[in-house]
Amino acid sequence: MNELLASNKTQELLKDTIKYYGIGNQCQKAIEELSELIRALSRVHYSSEPSVIENFNEEMADVYIMLEQLKLIFRNQEDVKKQLERKLERLTKRINKEV
Ligand SMILES: [Mg+2]
Repeated sequence: MNELLASNKTQELLKDTIKYYGIGNQCQKAIEELSELIRALSRVHYSSEPSVIENFNEEMADVYIMLEQLKLIFRNQEDVKKQLERKLERLTKRINKEV
């Protein structure tokens, strides 16, 4: 999945999307998609209905797409990567496992 989001084709599409809709609209869209995922997660937690699971999967995909756009908007790919590494290292220590 990371490869799909990081591919040149996807990155170009996302840059074009930001240009087309504008930064402000895409930030607002990110807020909407994040809130949709929160709602989908709270539903899937209590249901095994296929439509609920499908909606949850869809909202996760939407959020992945928006997070990728936020990295392009804020040009913080490297900083986010560093935070990811730091947090994964911290998590590894917490659960006492070697990576
Ligand atoms: Mg959505």
